Amino acid sequence: MIKFENAAFEYIRRDEEGNVEGITRALDNVSVHIRRGEFVAVLGANGSGKSTFAKHINGLLTPEEGKVYVNGLDTSDENNLLKVRQMAGMVFQNPDNQIIAQTIEEDVAFGPENMGVPSAEMQQRVDEALERVGLLAEKYNSPNRLSGGQKQRVAIAGVLAMKPECIIFDESTAMLDPAGRREVIASAHELNKKNGITIILITHYMSEAVDADRILVMNHGKIVMDGTPREIFSKPEELKEYKLEVPGITEFAYRLRKAGAPMPACILSEDEFMEAIYNAGKAGRLNR
Ligand code: ADP
Ligand code: MG
Repeated sequence: MIKFENAAFEYIRRDEEGNVEGITRALDNVSVHIRRGEFVAVLGANGSGKSTFAKHINGLLTPEEGKVYVNGLDTSDENNLLKVRQMAGMVFQNPDNQIIAQTIEEDVAFGPENMGVPSAEMQQRVDEALERVGLLAEKYNSPNRLSGGQKQRVAIAGVLAMKPECIIFDESTAMLDPAGRREVIASAHELNKKNGITIILITHYMSEAVDADRILVMNHGKIVMDGTPREIFSKPEELKEYKLEVPGITEFAYRLRKAGAPMPACILSEDEFMEAIYNAGKAGRLNR
């Protein structure tokens, strides 16, 4: 569904006279193929190019070299831009910056209204979208009193009302408390499983990437790792080179294993950890 072919993008900084002060190659020859219905987490240190990558998926930015295709449509072709933007919606970091209307209903209607969706269809789209994120009952209320997690769910509904095939979450949980983070991640997984929406989840929290189908790791504008969570998190030393850490429980199990404890190669959750301990105990390997 999404195809990057040697895509590159540079930001050019200029001083007041317009002289070039510096060039950042924020996307550096990226080639990657994301299939329809995949749940892909994107990890990388600050400034590694994650947001620039995300903005190429919905045509907010277009590559200076190479190509990006969404559903076969070349994002560099201006005639495709409206379609590309409608296909891939974005949920950003700050919930407050994304709320613009007086009622939740109006807020969710904003995107599709701009797309020219007829008002007869609008009501249904808004209701469906709010239903899917569990906020239909709040429809006529003001968004201002909602929690951070609820505000992000309103933002998700706004994207859903445009009937996207793909939703990109650009650190959409970064400003939320743990409960809010769980709400947003649960919504992302549900939309992926129930509605087959392709999810690109950019996050700083390793634990949020554990349940993805696939993880991409970015460093200096390049995709440097691409694999399942188990493949990626079984390489804590390589991740450290990119200023990333594995989830706490994974690190703990990894250290135990290095110290000679009977642990499988990569533990991703507390449940897996408990199971490994239980199995080792049953096999009598913990009695020494
Ligand atoms: P991330 O989302 O992983 O933090 P970004 O894609 O935002 O990374 O940024 C990648 C690089 O491009 C960084 O070095 C950043 O400083 C630079 N950059 C991002 N946006 C701009 C901009 N508008 N102008 C100049 N440089 C930018
Ligand atoms: Mg970013």
